Amino acid sequence: MQIIKNILPMQEAAAKAKRKGKTIGFVPTMGALHEGHASLLKQCRKDNDISVLSIFVNPKQFGPQEDFANYPREEKKDCLLAKKEKVDIIFYPSMKAMYAEGYLTYIDVESLNSKLCGQFRPGHFKGVATIVGKLLNIVSPDILYLGQKDAQQCVVLQKMITDLNWPVKVKVMPTVREPDGLAMSSRNKYLTVQERLQAPILYKALLQAKKAVTQGERDATKIRYLIETLIRENSASHIDYVECVDSNTLLPLKTLSGKVLIAIAVKFGQARLIDNIVLNIS
Ligand code: AMP
Repeated sequence: MQIIKNILPMQEAAAKAKRKGKTIGFVPTMGALHEGHASLLKQCRKDNDISVLSIFVNPKQFGPQEDFANYPREEKKDCLLAKKEKVDIIFYPSMKAMYAEGYLTYIDVESLNSKLCGQFRPGHFKGVATIVGKLLNIVSPDILYLGQKDAQQCVVLQKMITDLNWPVKVKVMPTVREPDGLAMSSRNKYLTVQERLQAPILYKALLQAKKAVTQGERDATKIRYLIETLIRENSASHIDYVECVDSNTLLPLKTLSGKVLIAIAVKFGQARLIDNIVLNIS
């Protein structure tokens, strides 16, 4: 396993692989790796000749009051997990390498950037699109691997790739969960013991919503109310949003039909957790 810290050597390694006719799979992350990241790396290994993992805590996607400074950084542990998943290259750039002094250029996926989490994290998706755009130019992958846990991120990045004609395919992998249903996340580390015990209510509430839909409920207001009530009654948390939206446009639905994304964001103390399910409703 190679660890590359600068941009030029990474671009050269990618170009060399391409010249030899090898395919490159790419998993961008912010580190503090867990089994969710591992599932992306496993699929990447399976599909491609060369598997590249990037680790970069991107300051541009954190708001001024957010957790950039405290975001977990676990270089040694991450390397062990990467080795186990047979990663060929870890791209581990410095802040200076990614954002040289006087940096000015951004990618903003309009309209999609302000839905769901965008209402609560202004500028977040601009930061995400910009860093992933830069990484695509550096790593030149054939396939980009993303996790369904960050559903809006998947929609925003797919749109960016389509609109800007990047020759890269996107594969979205299912959300990996703890045995009690909590979606794995680097931010779960912020939960206190009490909050950790309450946090599985997010997925339980989503499953209850799915059950209600299976039993015929199509009214988005009722589904949202069901989820919000379950979360409120079973945790001391703050709900940012519970929304039922079209899974491609992220536009809110009154009546559930087609491919529906039910997405939630809830704060437990220091931890802002997100989760979602996608339902195909005829
Ligand atoms: P992050 O390091 O949190 O920015 O995540 C890097 C990638 O891993 C993103 O594509 C995430 O959607 C994905 N990911 C994070 N957590 C999970 C999970 N529990 N299951 C599947 N993918 C995940």
